[in-house]
Amino acid sequence: MKDFTTILVAIDFSESSNNAFALALNMSKKYSARLVLVHVINEPVDLRGFYVPHISFEKLEEEIEQGAGKLMESFCRQHLEGYENYETFIVPGLPYEKIIQQAQELSADLIVLGTHGRTGLDHVLFGSTAEKVVRKSPLPVLTVRLQND
Ligand code: AMP
Repeated sequence: MKDFTTILVAIDFSESSNNAFALALNMSKKYSARLVLVHVINEPVDLRGFYVPHISFEKLEEEIEQGAGKLMESFCRQHLEGYENYETFIVPGLPYEKIIQQAQELSADLIVLGTHGRTGLDHVLFGSTAEKVVRKSPLPVLTVRLQND
């Protein structure tokens, strides 16, 4: 079996993704694999230049990106103090598409995500992002369910 050298974990800062992150971090340490944290800013593509003037939309986008960057920094300070073998990416787009795309670009060996996210919605079996990533990813995917969930 091929060793894990890069493990990507999809982070939306929910309890479920925190739980998936803990497992991904353990696996990264065990296999000395690089841990890649990816957060996708859900991009409201349809709104661009339509409902809001271009300039204010750009400004809004910039502020959202800065906010996401700060959240990620504080997450890493809290959970990865003293650990160096990791990288973070914040990308705009559709979460399931970008998670898969980023994993492919980085030749990740495994994608790790929670079974549901910030909305807490239980879409039959998985949250929709988890379901789509499992269905569409050509790379192996590990979903992590919260205990008592
Ligand atoms: P959901 O489909 O929103 O219920 O989320 C299922 C899991 O997908 C979460 O626990 C995260 O691991 C991941 N996820 C959802 N949304 C995002 C996002 N915007 N960026 C990164 N990961 C996400």
